[in-house]
Amino acid sequence: VQYDSLIDAPRDLYVGGRWLPGSSGERFDVNDPATDSLLLQVANAGPADADAAVESAASALDAWAGSTAEQRASILAASVSVLRERADALTELITAETGKPLREASGEVVISIRLLEWFAEESRRLTPEYWPSISPGRDCVVVNEAIGVVTAITPWNYPLYLVVCKVGAALAAGCTVLLKPAEQTPLTALAFASALDAAGIPAGVLNVVTTDDPRRIGDSLLHHPAVACISFTGSRVVGAELLRAAAPAIKRVLLELGGSAPLVVLDDADLDNAVAGAVRARFGNAGQACVAANRIYVTPGIADAFVERFVEAVRGLKVGSPQDPTTDIGPLIDAAAAERLQAQVEAAVAEGALVAVGGGPPERDGGLYFTPTVLLSSDKVPSICRDEVFGPVAIITRCDSADDAITAANDSEYGLAAYIFAGDSRRAYDIARRLRAGAVAVNGPLTAEPQLPFGGVGASGLGRERGRRGIEEFQETKTIHLVG
Ligand code: NAD
Repeated sequence: VQYDSLIDAPRDLYVGGRWLPGSSGERFDVNDPATDSLLLQVANAGPADADAAVESAASALDAWAGSTAEQRASILAASVSVLRERADALTELITAETGKPLREASGEVVISIRLLEWFAEESRRLTPEYWPSISPGRDCVVVNEAIGVVTAITPWNYPLYLVVCKVGAALAAGCTVLLKPAEQTPLTALAFASALDAAGIPAGVLNVVTTDDPRRIGDSLLHHPAVACISFTGSRVVGAELLRAAAPAIKRVLLELGGSAPLVVLDDADLDNAVAGAVRARFGNAGQACVAANRIYVTPGIADAFVERFVEAVRGLKVGSPQDPTTDIGPLIDAAAAERLQAQVEAAVAEGALVAVGGGPPERDGGLYFTPTVLLSSDKVPSICRDEVFGPVAIITRCDSADDAITAANDSEYGLAAYIFAGDSRRAYDIARRLRAGAVAVNGPLTAEPQLPFGGVGASGLGRERGRRGIEEFQETKTIHLVG
């Protein structure tokens, strides 16, 4: 693949509607995880570049927030058309910098475009509320207005979709944005900006700064007085740091953090469906998903059959090049991720977990591959279940009863997603209500539906993305009392 030809693969900062090399002229490496080798170099922003990006977003704010919903919707709709034209190139770019198989990268492009299209449509329907007053001679109108400049910070695992979750919603809400993508995946974010630029987005409405050291530009991203809101998707540790950083100026902070999703299989579940659902929920995106089912709890009547069939299915997953259309599991994102995963597996084994399949990297040269792994644990919440496991490793625990499984499932500081497989759908619904999570999937996968809010409880975050709620998070509510 000639990455140089991919929609011109922009590598400069996008600030004030212009592509700039950055004040220092420095560049940093973006790697291809499939070969663990250099892909391209992109501009490394310094504090002056980040300040310029915030200032350009601030100067574009009034015009964008004050434009009509129709004007904003048409720019977003035009962006959707350009992204559709560039879908193949975006797919290749995502695969190149994340290592995710082309099939999954293509799926990400599809859901990202659909989400942006939904934001474009919904931006036309953000109507004020009229309320009659409790006092005679008065009327009240409740309007939602853009909160201001948004700093959006995104991770590498869904480098297009998570950008659209933030940027699409913020633009629909009337905000202007400074986007700082993950250092592993700046190219997809820049390609997204290039599509919006081609669609005619006004200068300064979206700005993208790329860096390999976010702390270097942290002051501008977080503390600049023009920044009203920080929207972050990433790890819990960094999320907590951003919350602290935003506290003195009382900026709004939206956090989409990690998870350790439980998946409960009850005796009366359809075995085929439960096995297929669990494989998908755990091993999609090589297990590098915030909603991935880290912990699988099975009840006695189905435990043996489930373990046997699940292990067999996991053994059948094909690890290989993301360019190969038959590949199920591509590489991990980088060496640090591979080391962390190996250490988690070793700690679980030291605590008594048995390795049913996998347990480490396959015998092959190059890349950052990890064999799909199943661990069998007798402890309901070993340390590997307390932390997020960002890779293709499942932990199965046998429980005494459905209640026992629900108690174990809820024994986590995280609460992003949960899965339940059961034959009796009424009972499954009741259990879904008892599970502590922002989203529960019953007898199937969690799907990326644009109209549905998504987010976590507890340590999994603050606020919601997508859906009407995802737009309103970027707005302030104003109540106007009309007296006479
Ligand atoms: P990370 O927290 O290391 O990095 C995420 C982003 O934050 C990157 O852009 C990074 O450059 C930036 N960052 C890091 N330190 C910063 C600082 N001090 N100031 C400003 N920005 C900083 O996370 P990651 O490893 O890239 O991503 C994986 C994590 O993201 C996992 O925990 C995963 O669960 C989470 N995630 C959550 C969701 C969700 O919707 N809840 C979705 C995807 C991923």
